[in-house]
Amino acid sequence: MATIAMDRIGRLFINLQQLRQMPLLLTQAAPSMPANLRDTEVPRYFREAHVHSGYRPLGQSWSYYLRSLFQRHNETVNTWTHLLGFLGFLLALCRLAETVDFVGDPHAWPLLVLSVSAMGYNGCSAAAHLLGGKSELCHYLFFFTDYIGVAQYQYGSATVHFYYALEENWHARVAGVFMPAAVLLSCLSCLGCCYGKFCSHSLPTWVRRVGQVTPSALAYAWDTSPVFQRLWRWSADDDEAALCFHLGQVVFFLSSAFFFTYPLPQRWFPGRCDIVGQSHQIFHVLLNLCTLSQIRASHLDYLGRRRLYSRLHGEGEAGLVVGLYVVTVAACVLIAAGMVVKVKRVLDGKVQKCKFNRTDGVGPVPLSSVEQLRHRQKQVDTPLASWIVDSRSGWTPSRSGSRTHLVPPATGSMEVPISSSVALLRLERMLNTVLHILASEFKKHSKRRQAIGWKFLKPSRSRSSWDRSALSDTREPEYLLSWDS
Ligand SMILES: [Zn+2]
Repeated sequence: MATIAMDRIGRLFINLQQLRQMPLLLTQAAPSMPANLRDTEVPRYFREAHVHSGYRPLGQSWSYYLRSLFQRHNETVNTWTHLLGFLGFLLALCRLAETVDFVGDPHAWPLLVLSVSAMGYNGCSAAAHLLGGKSELCHYLFFFTDYIGVAQYQYGSATVHFYYALEENWHARVAGVFMPAAVLLSCLSCLGCCYGKFCSHSLPTWVRRVGQVTPSALAYAWDTSPVFQRLWRWSADDDEAALCFHLGQVVFFLSSAFFFTYPLPQRWFPGRCDIVGQSHQIFHVLLNLCTLSQIRASHLDYLGRRRLYSRLHGEGEAGLVVGLYVVTVAACVLIAAGMVVKVKRVLDGKVQKCKFNRTDGVGPVPLSSVEQLRHRQKQVDTPLASWIVDSRSGWTPSRSGSRTHLVPPATGSMEVPISSSVALLRLERMLNTVLHILASEFKKHSKRRQAIGWKFLKPSRSRSSWDRSALSDTREPEYLLSWDS
């Protein structure tokens, strides 16, 4: 008996020993993963403000990015928050299907559209965060897909609010235009986000944010107007539980918009929120909570307001809003596809006018490439361009006569960020053009005005060559940095 017991204890001990070796065995069995990088080691367009580390390397295999779902990097939480959201809404739809007849009852179709669109934006965004780091083209491609997801979710929100939450008096005013306007605003939102992303390296961050947020804010205000009206007129006759969930979705959405716009935690603690705690992660969580409240409120409206909405909307209207959902998705896919083609052409250099070797002027440039250096040694005609390039790139300006040349550093590789520079140069060129037109008009219409105008506008000898080129030369000044696409 004692021998058997000792034998079993011995076996158990051996099993425990093997168990302890399991993590080591698994690590050895799994293919090695490249280490994460710091922000200075990845191109500028992949960097997030105040996030210093945890970047995955570019140019790896697809399997690496898929496996990175289980690795620790600065997109792990972003991906999982959306994946869990996707699974949560799938489960919620399955539970709804137990009590709601999505096939036989057309009045339930708007609720189905909302649930599908909620899964859609979570799926698209998870793909963007997981796979968008593979290359520059993938970055744009997947984030444009993410914007399709957002736009179709906006339409899904408009559908349930119009169908279930609308009051009779508001319906009388907007019945014919609400859904077409919702389609248009969703498409504009998709276009604004895609174009903002496309121009993100030639415009300052705040301009891009405004360009992306404004169409989305307009779409939100329009799509949620029926809910605002009901909340404003909060009455005892209305379903209080539904109103509470509607209030919840508005509060969660506004909170999520705040964290989308302001990167607060990482700004307060730069470098400490690289993996967990970024504002974008909080934005994801709050947006999912908003959608959850929205689905619950819409379900309650579907159950409690049937008499009203079945009177306001005929049987065919549910089919129409589903058809418009398909139209919205198709239109957004076309918009995103057009932007991908535009990005691809720029990346291929077919319409690239930038005189740098890269479209965004960013990235290490080996000094061994004589041709690239020749491009960079273009003359800078304007003091603003000279100042920008001088202050941002580290190149040394060298004046010869009235013109400034840029001399590259002697050794090593370097980066030349032109993100905000291009915007400034465009502004400068616009001012040049305006000044030139003004001067021409003065000259044409009034000799006296012409004299005054030229006296005022024409540069004196002490003025720089930039002023002279702006007023006396019809040619546009040649810029070191110019990117028109
Ligand atoms: Zn996201």
